[in-house]
Amino acid sequence: MEPTLLATVCPKCHATVAATVNFCPRCGAKLKEPPISISFGRLAFVYLISFFLAPFGLVFAFKYLRQPDPKARMVGIVVIILTILAIALTILTANIFTRWEYRYINDSLMLQ
Ligand SMILES: [Zn+2]
Repeated sequence: MEPTLLATVCPKCHATVAATVNFCPRCGAKLKEPPISISFGRLAFVYLISFFLAPFGLVFAFKYLRQPDPKARMVGIVVIILTILAIALTILTANIFTRWEYRYINDSLMLQ
């Protein structure tokens, strides 16, 4: 039987198994990654990491974007947006701080 949307063939024992299972019921081979958690607690954790430890969030983003579930993929997109926002904010803050510092140095020099 050819693999379809409803059934797939185990690469190890060639048994036809339901496409929804993560492990082959006959030989126990891993057929696909179990679906990633999109529970509230998990998402809060992922979003916090994405924002406060910006580049590390991308690891989660790719993990979620690879999921077939559109809800999980949405999480990946949100993580990328949060990462971009966090990096933009860091650059902006650094810019303001640098400008402020330059002005301070200029003022100090003019007083002399
Ligand atoms: Zn099998």
